Amino acid sequence: MAEKNSWKWQLANRITTADELAKLIKLSPAEKADIEKSLELFRMAITPYYASLMDKDDPHCPIRMQMIPSALERIRGEFDLDDPLGEVKYNPAPNVVRRYPDRALLLVTMQCAAYCRHCTRRRVVGSTDCTITREQLRQALEYIHKTPEIRDVLISGGDPFIMETDALEEIIAAVRAIPHVEVIRIGTRVPVMLPMRIDKELTDMLKKYHPIWVNTHFNHPKELTPEALKACEKLVDAGIPVGNQTVLLKGINDDAKILKKLFLGLVKHRVRPYYLFQCDLSVGISHFRTPVEKGIEIMHSLTSSISGYAVPKYAIDLPVGGGKVTLGYNYVVSKDDKELVLENYLGKLYRYPAR
Ligand SMILES: *Cc1c(COP(=O)(O)O)cnc(C)c1O
Repeated sequence: MAEKNSWKWQLANRITTADELAKLIKLSPAEKADIEKSLELFRMAITPYYASLMDKDDPHCPIRMQMIPSALERIRGEFDLDDPLGEVKYNPAPNVVRRYPDRALLLVTMQCAAYCRHCTRRRVVGSTDCTITREQLRQALEYIHKTPEIRDVLISGGDPFIMETDALEEIIAAVRAIPHVEVIRIGTRVPVMLPMRIDKELTDMLKKYHPIWVNTHFNHPKELTPEALKACEKLVDAGIPVGNQTVLLKGINDDAKILKKLFLGLVKHRVRPYYLFQCDLSVGISHFRTPVEKGIEIMHSLTSSISGYAVPKYAIDLPVGGGKVTLGYNYVVSKDDKELVLENYLGKLYRYPAR
């Protein structure tokens, strides 16, 4: 039992085939065949911990839907794009994506603890040429070094937290040594998929390089287990502000009640909901996409019922590298030079001077 609490055991014992999966949940032969076919497109790997949250009988279980390949992934949707965020094009150095003058994304590994079916980078994530090479890292750091406008470096992938602590430290220390880099951010789904990885060794290392911020990725209240919440609290206790980025997923969390429970549960454990993302246009995930209008409606419903710090920004990451744009319900009913008419959270109208 104790070994199940070891993150390396969890990684070594991930569920990667339909046969292994069939031992844990009920699968028909047709479902098994479907999984095997879809696996040719994008790999499956589920940590035993996360798999233990799956409902054995319900194919619509939100945990199952995020992890188990579906025949729908083989459909190329009308608007699907191979490189939806233009990350190949906007690549000033190896493994660096820069879309804003003051921020850069540094991709350090293509491996994750578990592979989300809705992955934006499914084009490259999970491939075997995984971790950044020394030469790629040298060139990436050299670019950040000679670009003084960059004051915020986002270390992502893949998932940086599945790297060995000393390998990750080497990267973080090198970024921290660049004088104009103020903030280092790490993007990770490890608290959700592999919470036992957030151990003292990791938090002790991270807190040497403050200011470090972490953004994680919870999508459903079922993921708010004592283990996952403890992992977040360990990061926060190490002085790391933890934010959360949720992806709006059809049939999983496209419902204000579910998201409200999720966001309030996160806030209760000191995690700040940061973004709610419209699902990207990656190939094979169109079945997860929710109408934008529905996202706006959900935001309206959240804004009118819970505190501002429990409500993330609803954002679309624009295709071909346009960056993020935030959307929301329009509370301005009318405006002219003199006056605005504003709608409050109850739908009542108020007049307010324009200047
Ligand atoms: C999302 C993103 C960022 C960070 O954006 P924030 O709004 O500051 O969180 C930076 N660079 C790239 C390429 C991104 O996709």
